Parts: sequence; structure tokens; C-alpha cells
Amino acid sequence: MNKKQLNRKISMKPELLAPAGDLARAKVAINYGADAVYLGGMSFSLRSHASNFTMEDIREACKYADAHGANIHVTVNIIPHNEDFEGLEQYLRDLEDAGVTAIITASVYIMDLAKKVAPKLEVHCSTQMSVTNSFTAQMLVDENHVDRVVLARECSMEEAAEITAKCPVETEAFIHGGMCVNISGRCTLSNRMTLRDANRGGCAQSCRWQYHLMDGDRELSTEEDLFTLGSKDMMAGRQIKQLMEAGVASLKIEGRMKSEYYVASVVSGYRHLIDELYDCDGEMPEERMEYHINEITKGANRDICPGFYPKRADKDTIIFHEYSNNTVNHDFLGTVVDYNAETKIAHVQVRNVIEVGDRIEALMPGKPNAEYDVTWMKNADEEELTRANKPMDIITMEIPFEVHEKDILRRLS
Ligand code: SF4
Repeated sequence: MNKKQLNRKISMKPELLAPAGDLARAKVAINYGADAVYLGGMSFSLRSHASNFTMEDIREACKYADAHGANIHVTVNIIPHNEDFEGLEQYLRDLEDAGVTAIITASVYIMDLAKKVAPKLEVHCSTQMSVTNSFTAQMLVDENHVDRVVLARECSMEEAAEITAKCPVETEAFIHGGMCVNISGRCTLSNRMTLRDANRGGCAQSCRWQYHLMDGDRELSTEEDLFTLGSKDMMAGRQIKQLMEAGVASLKIEGRMKSEYYVASVVSGYRHLIDELYDCDGEMPEERMEYHINEITKGANRDICPGFYPKRADKDTIIFHEYSNNTVNHDFLGTVVDYNAETKIAHVQVRNVIEVGDRIEALMPGKPNAEYDVTWMKNADEEELTRANKPMDIITMEIPFEVHEKDILRRLS
């Protein structure tokens, strides 16, 4: 570390770690600035219905990440029962051969096995282990030789900073996405209501359903105001400065089931925020912070809160009386198929209704967002359109600045 770095409050830029539910989303996350992507294979992973990466896909993701200076982490984070181990040893060897950087696991046996059969894989202890204190972090390093401790989402900022300061290896902390209303990994709601084991990849998000609330025979809810106990999503943009000052090595976005648009939008937002916070050593003017928070939350489709960083969960973090499941985000209008820089004409694949007169913002990897007005559109038969409303149709329109294939177009509200 040189003298200039010693005088800084933020001594290193943390890794931005993004989720991916498939290969397309892994590439989007990397294109929009993720330093690392975590994903799940077909087995041994939570969110099993979100994880459709074959070993071939994992190899492809690793090649793509490598070519772009990024890393791939693979979740091996089921809470395994005796019947769950068949094929695990070979799976770990295959991950190592594929070029995976790290596995994320909550099983001390899997940690031990990975170190023996696939020693090039880093072992990161999953948030499922609920590390909320330095003693556990130290023990995981001493006894299980983990290379990174993923902090529990239930840590306060003070706890995250203290554990990071005392931890002999690097730490990782959540900054964005869904939270379990029950302490992560300690919930059997889904098991009881749907026979889908939350800790073996099957969570049906039963906490987010709507319920009739009864006190004996007396109903406390109404048809218009049913009860739900889902948590608000975390959005810790304003807490990142403190996490960076504390030396947290990796900042993690949750959401392997989220769409390509969500991944692009959230990763892009945090990429710009982290880079700027690092460049100004945390001295960011409030209007710039406002700007970044606004950019990050454009991709959000649930109520948000800063998680447990400022205080313990309370009525501000839980949605008691509103439906708390995903709503469709209609601001994602389309993706660029191709662009002719001479004519300024783009082919665009439609995802939601676009109208002439709409003001559109283009999200372009590695560049600031740019805006334009839709002045005309044509369909594949060269017919003029005032409204494009058929999802996946390819239309043409003029875009006054250079865009590229896969750039994302969204409505400016
Ligand atoms: S049902 Fe809700 S609280 Fe329980 S594991 Fe699933 S997301 Fe978490």
C-alpha cells in the first residue's frame, strides 16, 4: 500500500458481486460492470428452480468472465441431508476444472471436501450460516479454512465493520435485494405450506402470500386488507460508503430469479455509485448520492429499506398489509438489436408498450446513461407506428447517439 492509499478513508474498491439465473443474465451482469457473478448449478444449490446452469453453461460463463476480467462463484448452498451427497465430489472437481473462482456453501462438510478434492476453489461461507459475530468468523477460518466470510444480512453496520476488522480473511456483505423475514435459512414456512424445502432450494416465498388474519374465530383482516409478512427489499446505497470504509471486500446483490433488465439496471447503478465513491474517497455531495439512489431504484419493483444496517427489523422493514410479491416493471421498453451509426437507425426488440413521444433512457455498459425522444417507429413491414405493443416484435426507430446490441431502453418517468 503506498502513502497516498494510507491517507485514504477508502483503501480499496470492493468487488461488485451480482446474481445470474442463466447464462444470458450472467453476461448482462458482467457487461454492466459486475466484478463477479454468482450462480447455481442444477444440483446442490438453493433457488434450484432459478438455477438452470448446466456444467456446459458454467464453463461458458467462466470463459466469458475470464475474457472480461470477472470471476464466477457457484452456490453449493443446500443444507444437505444424507441422501444429497451423490455426485458431489465429481461436481466440485468439475467446477474447479471449469475455472470457477469460488463456491459458496453453508455446510462444513462441503467446505472440508472442497479443500481436499478441488483445492483451487476458494470456499466462501454462505449467508445461510448466519455469521453475526467475530468468534464464528474466526472459527470458520481456523477450523474450516474458508477464504471469505459472507456476513449475515441480519448484521448491523457496527457489527459488519467490527467483524470485518477482526476477520483474518475478507468479508462479503449484502447491499441489495430480497430479505427473509425469518432469519435467512431458519424458515420452514415454505416446507409446511407447499412441501417445498426452503433450505434445499425450494422456497415458495410463502411469507409474501396474502393471508386472512384470525384471532380465534374473529377475522382481523378484511378482503381489501389481507395480511402478509414479507420483508421489504434491501437497498443499502446510502450505507455503501460505510461498508467501503470498513474494508468489506465484496458487495453483493441478491436476486438470481430477477430479469435481465433488473440485473442490468441494478448492477449499472451500483457500478457507477461504487466507482464514484471510491474516486472521491467517500466525500460525495448529497445531490450525487440522490442521483445514484434514483438510478438504482429504477429497477426496483418492491418497497425498499436499508436492511438491518441502521437498526433491527421493525415495522418499517416488514410489509404487514400490502401484497409484497413482485410486480411487473413496465419501464423496461426494449433492447437494441443493431444500430447503423451513419443513418442513426436502430432495430429494437419490444418488451413493453412504446409510443411516439416517449422519452427513453438508454443503459449502455461502461457509459453514462443517455436520453432521447421517440420521433417515429416502423414495424417489420415498414409501416409507420404510433404505438408498438407486441412484445418481442422487432421495430426500427432513430436514436441520435451510438448504441450497441443488447443495450437496454427504458421509459423515463
Ligand atoms: S418463505 Fe419467506 S421467510 Fe421463509 S425462507 Fe422463504 S423468503 Fe425466507
